[in-house]
Amino acid sequence: MARRLVIIGGDAAGMTAAAQARRMVSADELEILAFERGSRTSYAACGLPYLIGGLVEAPADLVARTPEEHRAKGIDVRIRHEVTAIDTQTATVTVRNLDTGQESVTHYDELLIATGASGITPPWPGIDAEGVLQLRTLADAAKVEQALAAGTRHAVVVGAGYIGLEVAENLLARGLAVSVIEKLDAPMGAVLDADMAVAVTDAMRSAGIDLRLGTSVTGFTVSDGRVTAVETEAGPVKANLVVIGLGVRANSELARAAGIAVGESGGIIVDDHLRTGAPHVWAAGDCVESRHRITGRGVVLALGTHANKQGRCAGTNIAGGEATFGGVLGTAITKFKHLEIARTGLTEREAAAAGLDAFAEITEASSRAGYYPGAQSMRVKVVAERQTGRLLGAQIVGGEDAGKRIDVLATALWNGMTVHEMSGMDLSYAPPFSPVWDPVLLAAGKAASKL
Ligand SMILES: Cc1cc2nc3c(=O)[nH]c(=O)nc-3n(C[C@H](O)[C@H](O)[C@H](O)COP(=O)(O)OP(=O)(O)OC[C@H]3O[C@@H](n4cnc5c(N)ncnc54)[C@H](O)[C@@H]3O)c2cc1C
Repeated sequence: MARRLVIIGGDAAGMTAAAQARRMVSADELEILAFERGSRTSYAACGLPYLIGGLVEAPADLVARTPEEHRAKGIDVRIRHEVTAIDTQTATVTVRNLDTGQESVTHYDELLIATGASGITPPWPGIDAEGVLQLRTLADAAKVEQALAAGTRHAVVVGAGYIGLEVAENLLARGLAVSVIEKLDAPMGAVLDADMAVAVTDAMRSAGIDLRLGTSVTGFTVSDGRVTAVETEAGPVKANLVVIGLGVRANSELARAAGIAVGESGGIIVDDHLRTGAPHVWAAGDCVESRHRITGRGVVLALGTHANKQGRCAGTNIAGGEATFGGVLGTAITKFKHLEIARTGLTEREAAAAGLDAFAEITEASSRAGYYPGAQSMRVKVVAERQTGRLLGAQIVGGEDAGKRIDVLATALWNGMTVHEMSGMDLSYAPPFSPVWDPVLLAAGKAASKL
């Protein structure tokens, strides 16, 4: 008889694991049953800001694989089915059909928890009003579209993190007056050091965003059930639409209730094979805590890049193969209009908080040879260990072609290189692509000479 893999969560981590396990093992050996409480599977949340901005034409464009397509590949997907409990003693899950309300109990031989993360919503008065939402699912994007169709003119984004920035850019593109309210004194506070965020502030303000830094939200003014303003310590800000982007917390409650260990970060604790502490129970994606390769600590870094890799790794191991997940560096990239923003590893502030003796160096550089048309300026910040010169992190903010240079720095960081070693790396050069000294080499060289 076939063994049964039950998956909770039908998006990036869950369905990548399902597809990988299916590739490796036939349905005769392994039955795969995935429960998803929403109506869609395998959708690209990362594309939602560009859907509301109109750059992506239709919601269906963001769906990589529908439930029917999964079924055709031998993966039994049940949408609108929510897993409400896990019993590791009897190796069963309790499932509620959200359309009929009916509950049933299903046995598993292997269980993968891939429940993702939820947006943080503080208990502000009025937060449940119509027009106050998060952008996490296609259903949320549809609500934004409805608000725009109803004539919304004033939008407020709460939080100037990377999702807040992407949402603000795209609402601006739709012709709305956009305010961004941020408690910290600089945007991208969880991504960049303040000295690198200056260019982001300038880009947002010169694009016409009403950016209110150092401002705390206290609640919402609501009229007839609809939001009309965001209340702040500095007074109200008019709004018919509010998008909250305050970061996420791992959906680990099901695991915790089943006695599966959850870390201080709030993510499910897994080993490098994505095994939890319970027998035959695995977890992957935004719901787990991953080992940070620099600090060694368990962190929840809710990124699609990790969810896909972890799903693949879990699927391989569940199917009887051998794969390990190597940890995370927090490498991330985004843009605001023409400004590209990227980081990897630790910021200067994070390195200090981790107790590392670090120093930082900022280098101004050009994306192409100075004489070649279209050269754009960029700033590269390198954070390194004072004693050894070991790279600890990097940030890049600049024009076209700046951002993806972070991957060279991430590769060096992944491999434990020092800034001395990096300054001599054999990187490509031709005038249309870089100056003879690529910005990465320049930045590493400047940091090395400071040592
Ligand atoms: C607007 C936006 C932009 C983003 N941009 C980027 C980007 O540019 N780059 C990047 O790397 N990452 C980005 N991300 C993050 C990325 O989308 C997530 O890291 C990724 O989707 C995580 O995949 P996951 O499978 O772990 O979780 P999810 O995608 O959250 O999927 C979890 C699924 O589990 C289901 N579920 C939860 N509990 C239950 C239950 N009890 N029973 C049944 N089903 C359940 C949920 O309905 C959900 O569909 C972005 C996210 C958002 C919201």
